[in-house]
Amino acid sequence: MTVDLQKIKETSTDRVGFFRFKKFDAETYLITNDAGKFHFLNSEDFQNFIAWNFDTLADLSDLEKKGFIKNDLYQDAMIGSVAMKNHFVGVGPTLHMVVITLRCNHKCKYCHAAVAPMSAKEFDMSEETAKKVVDTILYTNSPVLTIEFQWGEALVNYPVVQYVVEYATDRAQHLGKQVTFSLVTNLTLMTEEKLTWLLDNWVDICTSLDGDEVSHNASRTGYDGNSFEKVSYWLQRVSEEKQKRGMWKIWALLTATKQTLPRYKEIIDEYQKLGLDGIFLRWLNPYGFAAADMDTLAYNSDEWIEFYTQALDYVIEINKWGTFFREQISSVYLQKIFNTYDPAFMDIRSPSWIAVGGVAYNYDGKIYASDESRMLWRMGMDDFLMTDPQQSGQKNYEVMMKSDITKIAVQSSTLDGLPGYNDHVYKPYLGVDIIHNFKTTGSLYTPLVKDEKMKLQMAILDTIFEKLRDPEVEKIFMSWIGR
Ligand code: SF4
Repeated sequence: MTVDLQKIKETSTDRVGFFRFKKFDAETYLITNDAGKFHFLNSEDFQNFIAWNFDTLADLSDLEKKGFIKNDLYQDAMIGSVAMKNHFVGVGPTLHMVVITLRCNHKCKYCHAAVAPMSAKEFDMSEETAKKVVDTILYTNSPVLTIEFQWGEALVNYPVVQYVVEYATDRAQHLGKQVTFSLVTNLTLMTEEKLTWLLDNWVDICTSLDGDEVSHNASRTGYDGNSFEKVSYWLQRVSEEKQKRGMWKIWALLTATKQTLPRYKEIIDEYQKLGLDGIFLRWLNPYGFAAADMDTLAYNSDEWIEFYTQALDYVIEINKWGTFFREQISSVYLQKIFNTYDPAFMDIRSPSWIAVGGVAYNYDGKIYASDESRMLWRMGMDDFLMTDPQQSGQKNYEVMMKSDITKIAVQSSTLDGLPGYNDHVYKPYLGVDIIHNFKTTGSLYTPLVKDEKMKLQMAILDTIFEKLRDPEVEKIFMSWIGR
């Protein structure tokens, strides 16, 4: 059955709430709305829905509850739901990524930060700069902030990590703010003493694990020793210590390369063997060292989608065997689809995180609109430098928020104003990566057909919605988001 466009034209919006749709398969339509609700309708029901023949709809009350059909409560309910879905818009940057040093004891093939060698001490952040950075962070308007120590390897400049944690904790207490810390580390410089101090001071720890020994060591090169052996030892040790203290499990991220795509089973098995309860399937971005070696490391979006689908099927199989193990990027989308509040996951939101969600402070204190913006600086493109924190925290924040970069970033990443993105059925769950688009197409306003990252997001959502039609898989998915 085909859609009768004349009927759609004649349809008044008095009873049908605003919705977007797509033909999901030969017999099914998927509809979504701005509250993030979705519903599958067969062709006949879809025709009746758009023609207002509600009496024949078996799912009438469900469609009303989800805001697809208006009732007396429609307006108030939608205002509340849409506000909760976009709760992050009014709070300013919450994630503050601090480059404690650009140095690293690895030189991974894909390192997006293009790290400096261990001898280059001029790339370390000083205490004086760290103080200015913390003062700026604490002046931003969110009452809840996360300071994340990002690549290079922060443990190379450990005393400044300690300084930032102690100074920010103290200042936050005075200002009545809540600050949390996260250390992204390759774990090879971890010691028992550092681990105790970090956990005593509530610093969360996150690492990269590119799978089994073969896959991990193939990508994570430049280390004087066996990187996999070190990371797997410390991963288990950190998990053990966190468990004792009743803290969250350690997180590990996988960066897939062309070489690792076919090894998804070995990689997932290794994650399980090391006691992790999930995996984050992350695609390669064209920054830093990766940009120089895309021919050997990268894959096209179709290859990544095939890898994602196969890996997800394997993860679902593991759950069917009775073991809880989740795929994290799918879990983010599931939270977007099912939870009242958007998880505000930085990489996928509208407007994007650039300048207003997560900003980056370079080792010299320069403030960039995002971590990726700082990576572009390393590649000779300084287009997203917001300011140099030579001034007070208040002044810096004013400059950041009033900058042209902030205005352009918000305008070019708010999907409601972007043709093609704004009327897509998955619009409530998407987020455009303008820095990736700038790097790959030369424009922040990339047409949807040329947006490779958006293609990946849409393919993931197609896969998730397809799988949600199977009650057994739906139950597994719900367990991943604690429902
Ligand atoms: S990816 Fe991480 S561990 Fe590897 S070189 Fe870059 S900062 Fe170092």
